[in-house]
Amino acid sequence: MNLCDIKTVKQIMSAFHLSFRKEYGQNFLIDRSVVEDIAEECCQDKNGTILEIGPGIGTLTYELALRHDKVVALEIDRGLIPVLSHTLGEFDNVTVINEDVMQADLDTLLAPAFARGSVSVCANLPYYITSPILMKLLESRLPFDYITVMIQKEVADRLCAPAGGKDYGAITAVLAYYGEAERLFNVPADRFLPAPKVDSAVVRIRLHKTKPAVPKDEALLFRTIKAAFAQRRKTLANSLSSGFSELNKTEITEIIAACGHSADVRGERLDISDFCALSDAIGKHL
Ligand code: SAM
Repeated sequence: MNLCDIKTVKQIMSAFHLSFRKEYGQNFLIDRSVVEDIAEECCQDKNGTILEIGPGIGTLTYELALRHDKVVALEIDRGLIPVLSHTLGEFDNVTVINEDVMQADLDTLLAPAFARGSVSVCANLPYYITSPILMKLLESRLPFDYITVMIQKEVADRLCAPAGGKDYGAITAVLAYYGEAERLFNVPADRFLPAPKVDSAVVRIRLHKTKPAVPKDEALLFRTIKAAFAQRRKTLANSLSSGFSELNKTEITEIIAACGHSADVRGERLDISDFCALSDAIGKHL
């Protein structure tokens, strides 16, 4: 069965009386080499477990199951579960669970997998919920090796942006705290059925085993980053003034200077180490 063949995909959907559900971001991959490349490059350790989010009709799951020891796939759409039993029936290393990833207790679900070896995430993510899923995975603090995701190209641009660039923002800095993002390749919209309105890109995040920069107070770090990017066209001093009403402008100017930045610096110039130092300096004044 060729799950990348448009006719086959349509036949499967019709045989199971299903239609593509827009509200679940159902754009299925129909390019075999893209699917193979993602399954191959999503992580280095092929003896570990892959958590897939949103297997759809099993196109990527199939290639993951061929290459990795074990695949655990979470699919929100109950209608797709019998399809997955059909398309993945030949594998005994795939577990499909009908669950919303945002509701899933990943700690409990993946405890046996982590006990066995490495665990990585691989997913062609539904566009409507990309950032919440990514943040849930990162904030879970589960020691994934890699998180490899197909996402909207513009989001990939932001995740992989260098400090100082136009795409660098709060999500770039927060992601850099947890790991290192690398764009593997871009995927045009016509490689999906139905074709979305936007192009996509595959991003692989290697999670830090040891974080290169650690703040004294993590919540304060995230508050500082959020404040720094809340008003993009403002200088860092003005943005922090709005975000930290407990501090007066002079204190903020002194903190920024003490961290070695010029008075008119903007938030996008600061990398994650700079933000850790800045939030530590703010912490001393609170
Ligand atoms: N992996 C398939 C592929 O590459 O062809 C399908 C990818 S499609 C972009 C996204 C999939 O995620 C759909 O199957 C959709 O039903 C599923 N999905 C959407 N929201 C979800 C959620 N909150 N939890 C789990 N799966 C979800």
